[in-house]
Amino acid sequence: MKLIIDQERCTGHGRCYALAPELFDCDDWGHSVLLLPEVPGALEDKARLAVASCPENCLSVE
Ligand code: SF4
Repeated sequence: MKLIIDQERCTGHGRCYALAPELFDCDDWGHSVLLLPEVPGALEDKARLAVASCPENCLSVE
């Protein structure tokens, strides 16, 4: 599974890195930064939860 973020749409709500700190960090402005673009199998459920929880719909998986 590959995790993708549209940085242009990220407004820094922080839900992704609150829900899945193994997968996301934040920059100095609170915008999301991907830690593991290639998601390990054990974290796929967390990746899907983060995608579903982003209020800006800027996260996706493929
Ligand atoms: S939840 Fe969405 S908008 Fe908020 S920091 Fe994460 S990617 Fe950005």
